[in-house]
Amino acid sequence: MAQGGRQAIIVGSGFGGLSTAIRLLSDGWQVTILEARPEIGGRASRIQEGGYTFDTGPSLITMPWLFEEVYAAAGEKMSDHVTLRQLQPGYRIFWTGEDRHFDFGSDREQLLAEMRKFSNDDANQLEAFLAASGAIHREGILVSGRQNFLNLKDFVKLLPTMARLDAIRFLQGWVGKFFKEPHVQQAFGFHSLFIGGDPSRVPAIYSALAYLQIADGIWYTEGGVYSIIESFGKIIAKMGGVIHTNSKVDQILHRNGRATGVRTADGEVHNADLVIYNGDVTARDALLPDAPDAFPWRLRPLRTTMSAHMLYLGTNKKFEKLLHHTLVVGDDYYGFIKDVTRERRMPRSNAVYIHAPSRTEPEMAPPGGDSIAILLPVPNLRSGDDWTEAEPRMRDRTLEWLENWGLPGLRDSIVVERSWTPLTFRDELLAPDGNAFAVEPSLEQSAYFRQPNRDRTIAGLYYVGGGTHPGAGMPGALLTSQVTQDLIRGDYPAPFTSRATGPTGNLVRP
Ligand SMILES: Cc1cc2nc3c(=O)[nH]c(=O)nc-3n(C[C@H](O)[C@H](O)[C@H](O)COP(=O)(O)OP(=O)(O)OC[C@H]3O[C@@H](n4cnc5c(N)ncnc54)[C@H](O)[C@@H]3O)c2cc1C
Repeated sequence: MAQGGRQAIIVGSGFGGLSTAIRLLSDGWQVTILEARPEIGGRASRIQEGGYTFDTGPSLITMPWLFEEVYAAAGEKMSDHVTLRQLQPGYRIFWTGEDRHFDFGSDREQLLAEMRKFSNDDANQLEAFLAASGAIHREGILVSGRQNFLNLKDFVKLLPTMARLDAIRFLQGWVGKFFKEPHVQQAFGFHSLFIGGDPSRVPAIYSALAYLQIADGIWYTEGGVYSIIESFGKIIAKMGGVIHTNSKVDQILHRNGRATGVRTADGEVHNADLVIYNGDVTARDALLPDAPDAFPWRLRPLRTTMSAHMLYLGTNKKFEKLLHHTLVVGDDYYGFIKDVTRERRMPRSNAVYIHAPSRTEPEMAPPGGDSIAILLPVPNLRSGDDWTEAEPRMRDRTLEWLENWGLPGLRDSIVVERSWTPLTFRDELLAPDGNAFAVEPSLEQSAYFRQPNRDRTIAGLYYVGGGTHPGAGMPGALLTSQVTQDLIRGDYPAPFTSRATGPTGNLVRP
């Protein structure tokens, strides 16, 4: 145990781990982070090469006040570290073979105009949709997102509200209550896909994602999302926290039912009063070989999400057809989702999300060029696909399809190219099955049925990050750190001096 203070070890430096470190440091804990990779950030890493900058994972920011809360916990102002800009529109959705596109954003008049391009009747339903999804956001997400679900009765207590709001039925059907036109249905119903949830199987509570983007906006950080990660790292160092990269933990040590520290792959033992695990929760049992099962009553293990094939392309020309965020949906959208989620097979059609941040911040690419990140959802490694063989094939398939759709000359313009495949998620991010978004957000894997924020059998062992409650996405991961901090405060009552201040309110709106 460290001298002179209570020592917490955090395994992993994703958004969940870093924000927990800041919160615990502000509560007076000594904090050491052990990260397996050479740099911090986890899925939210950065690639820089030849003047091109790419965020490897998350790029679209919602609920910016949750980031502010973390800075505030350190007594810092977000505006002293990063600048957030609202994007208007947030993103454009294209469908191949369709002349019309759909601009999704928070400008209500513009959104209505976009809807009217497809259906006047559906446009007339926008207010009803926002009222219903707003209620789900307020009564569901804002309440349950900040509370732990260690007890079944807390989950059961939430059910009448969720039933009253009709939030337990599946999202796709719920969206269909308001909108009938297929493009409009897709525009308002796809959001769960990008945290690993099949819209036909996630509960309608995820309609709050669309609501939030309309009510609250879609944001970009100058320098990309990694600038937030970098600033969190600096704040942790300033507060006295220690970060060790290249430190893979291969065992969480425990004695008499209590966590006592961790052992790294090179045999180093770090003792601690408590351990917070930010790695993939489905790897828990492998790290705790002699511990009782986390879910003795669960008939099958937690289901991991699909994976992603990421292409990071630095090009020597600009592709004006792309906005900062663009979605391109090919034929058979529902078949595509079914392939990558339920069927776990290589998709027979295409649907990609593209991030091209130099529209907003020219410095993200050299003059005249573009830095383009392409995300193609693919099945995780349970599909049995061999990605050493599949990668070049899938790369050519995606790029050829995008060239034919509207980015002619894309392949010839590439001067820098990197990629992430399911193997990267498995081997570098230590995500079982090479999953991209942790545990699937289905009803039977949510709240009480998800990995709880405190271990049920080992005292002093906690969890943060996308696999625990409330779930994946940057806002979800940040909320897990607050839920876990609250549990730790309850379990280790002490006259801690918090350095917290209120939110700083420094968001730049256009
Ligand atoms: C391609 C992609 C796009 C996304 N886009 C968005 C988006 O636009 N907006 C959004 O809000 N969210 C998005 N997300 C989701 C979001 O990135 C994640 O939910 C969030 O960043 C996960 O944070 P986390 O705390 O779970 O940690 P992770 O990012 O999963 O990091 C966990 C860290 O723990 C480390 N680790 C694991 N095991 C060990 C061990 N045994 N020892 C030491 N270290 C270990 C890993 O190396 C990793 O660095 C996206 C995700 C992906 C993959």
